Amino acid sequence: MTGTAAPARFQLFPLQVVRAARITPHMARITLGGGGLTGFVNGGLDQRIKLLLPQPGQSEPLTPPGDGEFGWYRTWRGMDPAVRPVLRTYTVREQRHDPDEIDLDIVVHGEAGGPGSRWALTAAPGDRVIVCGPAVEEAGGVEFRLPAGADWVLLAADEAALPAVAAILAELPAGLPVRVFAEVEEPGEEAYLAGPADRPGLGVTWLYRSKGAPTLPEAVRAAELPAGEPYAWIAGEAASVRELRRHLVGERGTDRRAVCFMGYWRAGRTEDQRADDGPQDEED
Ligand SMILES: Cc1cc2nc3c(=O)[nH]c(=O)nc-3n(C[C@H](O)[C@H](O)[C@H](O)COP(=O)(O)OP(=O)(O)OC[C@H]3O[C@@H](n4cnc5c(N)ncnc54)[C@H](O)[C@@H]3O)c2cc1C
Repeated sequence: MTGTAAPARFQLFPLQVVRAARITPHMARITLGGGGLTGFVNGGLDQRIKLLLPQPGQSEPLTPPGDGEFGWYRTWRGMDPAVRPVLRTYTVREQRHDPDEIDLDIVVHGEAGGPGSRWALTAAPGDRVIVCGPAVEEAGGVEFRLPAGADWVLLAADEAALPAVAAILAELPAGLPVRVFAEVEEPGEEAYLAGPADRPGLGVTWLYRSKGAPTLPEAVRAAELPAGEPYAWIAGEAASVRELRRHLVGERGTDRRAVCFMGYWRAGRTEDQRADDGPQDEED
């Protein structure tokens, strides 16, 4: 029997930092390119990728060898943690062509920030990284799926999920009402959604931790929301996301299939520790 293997949905793209800029007080935009993006097929919306970063003292990340879509990941797991690349998850904020570039918007979360946040603070043109990203149409890694018949969309996010919110807003059908609840550290971050905020039918509520504003779940619980069937997309700190999902499904009676929710990070746990913890953000 003969057969042609299906093309890998994801592959490793060796890339360079083209530009790095602070676009709000807590958000760095890292533009990656340098010729390595041939075959990168952004699925749009909340498309996630894995970023492989060098360890301190390395000029570039080691490339974990491996066959197939995620053969590299099996190799990576067996490598010495002191030398294997640091693995972090981010969203493709935008892909452009001529020249091929992608933007990653990375939250710089203070002194206690981990290697992803620290890397974003110092990234400079020419720095080398690897991205594990989509290599075919509909590769996966996109969770936002607007059902036919949704009357309006709820997007609830903290800083880590604002890149996905911005990318989703850029693709939603014109005229569909959207309510965004965005929890950020302090005033000054609103500029991040300045472009999409012009969209007709969009209402954005900003919540500031430093000023003691309500949390995301508290703000949504207290809000008067539009009538009709919503599609809700919630992402951010894992415990907050779970609490908000419970409110929507348990207290507001939202169809659980119409609530997409993802813990993007967990207070007090690094991404490596979360991977070791296993899935914890599933329905309960
Ligand atoms: C599908 C998906 C898409 C994501 N997209 C983005 C994105 O586009 N931009 C982005 O910035 N992040 C995004 N994230 C979140 C990002 O992967 C995590 O925040 C990650 O932990 C950052 O790694 P780090 O090395 O900076 O911190 P880690 O080493 O993982 O953690 C160090 C410490 O920082 C805390 N911490 C981690 N993240 C945050 C945060 N955002 N705010 C405050 N404290 C934090 C941890 O609890 C821990 O105590 C995404 C996550 C997922 C699952």
